[in-house]
Amino acid sequence: MTLEEMDKKYVLQTYNRNYVNFKNGQNATLFDENGKDFIDFTSGIGVVSVGHGNAKVANAIYNQVQNITHTSNIFLIEPQAKLAEKMVKLSGFDMAVFFGNSGAEANEGAIKIARKYGQNKFKNKRYKVLTLEYSFHGRTITTLKATGQESFHQNAFSPYPEGFAYKNQIKDIYSAIDDETIGVMIELVQGEGGVQAFDKKEVEELAAFLQKNNLLFIVDEVQTGVFRSGEFLASKFYNIEPDIITLAKGLAGGVPIGAVMTKHKDILTYGDHGSTFGGNFLSTRAGLEVLNILENYHEKGLLRKSIEYFDDKLKKVVENHSDLFLGRTGLGLMRGIQCKDSDIVSKTIKLSFEEGLLVLKAGRNTIRFLPPLTITKNEIDEGFVRFEKALNRLK
Ligand SMILES: *Cc1c(COP(=O)(O)O)cnc(C)c1O
Repeated sequence: MTLEEMDKKYVLQTYNRNYVNFKNGQNATLFDENGKDFIDFTSGIGVVSVGHGNAKVANAIYNQVQNITHTSNIFLIEPQAKLAEKMVKLSGFDMAVFFGNSGAEANEGAIKIARKYGQNKFKNKRYKVLTLEYSFHGRTITTLKATGQESFHQNAFSPYPEGFAYKNQIKDIYSAIDDETIGVMIELVQGEGGVQAFDKKEVEELAAFLQKNNLLFIVDEVQTGVFRSGEFLASKFYNIEPDIITLAKGLAGGVPIGAVMTKHKDILTYGDHGSTFGGNFLSTRAGLEVLNILENYHEKGLLRKSIEYFDDKLKKVVENHSDLFLGRTGLGLMRGIQCKDSDIVSKTIKLSFEEGLLVLKAGRNTIRFLPPLTITKNEIDEGFVRFEKALNRLK
């Protein structure tokens, strides 16, 4: 039996997999079983933020699990406390953190905080959370419902929990707020939806409105967070102070982790929320190492340089192929190229793969780029050489 046959026989077929067998990786380069190399502009969908095979993270994990991997949240977990401290300091907000294992779980935590806040702070309980069209908030039943895309609300999985509604644009949110609404949850740059950054002024006005009315601003930074935008939080680019922030993807370099941070530290109390694995020694030690690396990378201006270099390349490729592309979107190292149609997206992804370059799709007509934040200049150069080859073959 080949591995592909094994996968098809024994793994539930929920993914449309590409059957390449990666064996090892170094930073933004992956090698398959035949030794063929691929430049990775996906970092496992924004997860491997400090690159593949990162020796510092590997050593930190090794040293940790040699001693303790897991004890449960009944006991003090030193790296969990240290990671929470680091996250709060990097955020610049007066917040506290709860750790889970994924982005969806982080958003579930955010919704629980919002609902309890809605009960504690208002005479008539408020519980409705408004989201936006083309958002993506996760795959649990509740976060599917929070996701503002009808295609995710398959009847097969119904009934869905109440208390969610989505609106086309930020400006439509105001009129949708009623006396049951507790807050708004948005991604500042929609990831799955098409790598679109929201207008600064619109976001700031919404934040101010919510604050004035004691309603919650929940920012899903599962994809934009952990320096993906160029700062620890994309919220820094907007002059806002969210009530609740969720993080996951890039936080522990590939070890499963999710986190919800909030300034409303007194809402969840003993017994209100919990997780068996969340925040254990393994994931939080990895997260701490990842943040140490990225903080340093950011402070030295290296991240800024990579972002500028990548943007330069992106700008040129869009200009060179104005017959295929409409423009570039996103910020930091979360970027997109808007294509004239979805056919261009799927063909480009396929041809890029053949040329040894991994890129992603987002929304209907966007090619998405989420390289490791530590990608080198050479890897960027090589990736765009391969991208050009793919585009020239497309024509
Ligand atoms: C990926 C993602 C999620 C879901 O994260 P999982 O770890 O897959 O549960 C939620 N929100 C956003 C913005 C995401 O990009």
